[in-house]
Amino acid sequence: MPEYVIDYVLLHELAHLLVPGHGPDFWRLLEAYPRTERARGYLEGVVAAERLPHLPGDPGE
Ligand SMILES: [Zn+2]
Repeated sequence: MPEYVIDYVLLHELAHLLVPGHGPDFWRLLEAYPRTERARGYLEGVVAAERLPHLPGDPGE
């Protein structure tokens, strides 16, 4: 994982010490980190790629 994604995950978990759920207060707190949206997009891509039989662009077997 890129460092900015790991930083986002750590920040996410730390923010939960202050705000338990994923409500507007939680996301307002995470907006302080400028790469929040980019990191969330990266993680969505990882989850989606795990559901694919082959990665698009991968030459395959
Ligand atoms: Zn969370």
